[in-house]
Amino acid sequence: MQPKDADVIVVGAGLAGLVATAELVAAGQTVILVEQEGQQSLGGQAWWSFGGLFLVDSPEQRRLRVRDSVELAWQDWLGTAGFDREEDYWPRRWAEAYVHFAAGEKRAWLQQMGHRLFPVVGWAERGGYGANGPGNSVPRFHITWGTGPGITAPFEAKVRDGVERGLVRLAFRHRLDELVLTNGAVTGVRGSVLEPTTTPRGTASSRTVTGDFEFTASAVILTTGGIGGDHDAVRAAWPQRMGPAPKNMLSGVPEHVDGRGIGIAQTAGGRVINPDRMWHYVEGIRNWDPVWKNHGIRILPGPSSLWLDAAGNRLPVPLFPGFDTLGTLEHLRRSGHDYSWFILNKSIIRKEFALSGSEQNPDLTGKSVRDVLRRATAGVPAPVQAFLDHGEDFLTADSVEELVAGMNVLAKGSSAQGQVPELSVDAVRSELEARDREILNPFSKDSQVTAIRGARTYLGDRLIRTAAPHRILDPKAGPLIAVRLSVLTRKTLGGLETDLQSRVLGDDGAPVPGLFAAGEAAGFGGGGMHGYRSLEGTFLGGCLFSGRAAGRAAAGQGTAQT
Ligand SMILES: Cc1cc2nc3c(=O)[nH]c(=O)nc-3n(C[C@H](O)[C@H](O)[C@H](O)COP(=O)(O)OP(=O)(O)OC[C@H]3O[C@@H](n4cnc5c(N)ncnc54)[C@H](O)[C@@H]3O)c2cc1C
Repeated sequence: MQPKDADVIVVGAGLAGLVATAELVAAGQTVILVEQEGQQSLGGQAWWSFGGLFLVDSPEQRRLRVRDSVELAWQDWLGTAGFDREEDYWPRRWAEAYVHFAAGEKRAWLQQMGHRLFPVVGWAERGGYGANGPGNSVPRFHITWGTGPGITAPFEAKVRDGVERGLVRLAFRHRLDELVLTNGAVTGVRGSVLEPTTTPRGTASSRTVTGDFEFTASAVILTTGGIGGDHDAVRAAWPQRMGPAPKNMLSGVPEHVDGRGIGIAQTAGGRVINPDRMWHYVEGIRNWDPVWKNHGIRILPGPSSLWLDAAGNRLPVPLFPGFDTLGTLEHLRRSGHDYSWFILNKSIIRKEFALSGSEQNPDLTGKSVRDVLRRATAGVPAPVQAFLDHGEDFLTADSVEELVAGMNVLAKGSSAQGQVPELSVDAVRSELEARDREILNPFSKDSQVTAIRGARTYLGDRLIRTAAPHRILDPKAGPLIAVRLSVLTRKTLGGLETDLQSRVLGDDGAPVPGLFAAGEAAGFGGGGMHGYRSLEGTFLGGCLFSGRAAGRAAAGQGTAQT
């Protein structure tokens, strides 16, 4: 038998790869961590992330008087996932295990590694349908103190400890091109050595090849991420049920999130399921200070902005900001245009606009208590103000006439948008005035107004996320603001089918010997544990859970075959 280069090879140094490697180190295994980017990109997407984590019945929720339970969370998950396919067998089992993890050991496991949470729990994906429909019945979006870097740091420390102990070899600028098969079992990886790079984290690096490599091991864990950086791949997988794929999209992920690893595993016999399930946002804005090509930022919106499609029609109930990402995407895709509009004012933007991404939240990322407290007391947060000042999608005006004139110019100015509808001042004013008349009583027939009042009965929303109900046209709350929103690619919900040990399964349902997968490449577990939609904060958590399972299972394999 050929000597091995390591017990296990992990491909992809994002969060899932770091977690898997950390588990292997804990089990005393030798690991080669293969990563196509330079060491400055360690942590992958998770480093850029907001660090939001789905937890169930946590002390943070209880302190805010949120009553949650595993039964309620499972009800929400099932209503959101909508599992309805034969191949949902493993995804559903992963989902159930994950909800129990989120309600059980997840928080304590992270905490003993030094991970901490911001005390106010966010309420993402509120749904707005019946009890069995999609959405979170209660706030569950727990923000990592330190955002993305705060979630990768504990695992990076364990991996670096493994390097110091001689257990881990970091192979940066090594790109996997092929899995090595011996008698039907995966026994190694082959690929290209890319020239060294000094490009900053997140920017595109050179693809010039300077050599090739081959490593052998008892097992390979694939954690190479999803497809969101490759818009052609996103369009190719776009499902009919969501209407036509957009011509213009922003990228919510760096270019290296290209999904190639999934295809490489498929060539080696792995089965890909649910490739048509994806998670893209509808509140994307073009980054005025981009890091990667076509860089978009997602607004995490509070519930008060008025949402209009490109022709000026108000979106139907319950497609309010932050309620149902894919329901809104589907509706807007059928509207015939690639963009939509938020109309709001300064009072709303001050309290309700959060921007996703570690670099957009320097107070949370830098763990500055003083700066975070200023969120609740000061004016418009500095990163949001920067978009107001420099962002090409933002307009301010003192009157509806001026605002709509600006919106029409902005819509026409983008030649890539093709034929754009002319917004009517009277129609937009009429929507705003009608909505504003509904705000005068503490009760209303307007479901969005009722939802705003409902949100404020949750302490966390009243404190920092939902503006006190007021007339959008109230001059004291002005100026008026319009924001053009685009589709922003982000997550791949389907992927390599895996069992609960993260073993990649083949077309016959049996494991491909020696091959494991975790994180986004495995649809965060099972090949699609989210089903059709997500409750949010479940992607980082999915990397933690599936990366851990893969590391533990492959450690068993590595030891057994040594
Ligand atoms: C701005 C932003 C905000 C987010 N906010 C949240 C949030 O608040 N909550 C949440 O749950 N999720 C969030 N997410 C999503 C989450 O961060 C990702 O889904 C998750 O980090 C994916 O991790 P991964 O390890 O599976 O893949 P990745 O992070 O994509 O890592 C894959 C790694 O594999 C490498 N690789 C790929 N192909 C090869 C190859 N052929 N050879 C060698 N190496 C290869 C890549 O270079 C990369 O380093 C956010 C994402 C972004 C971008």
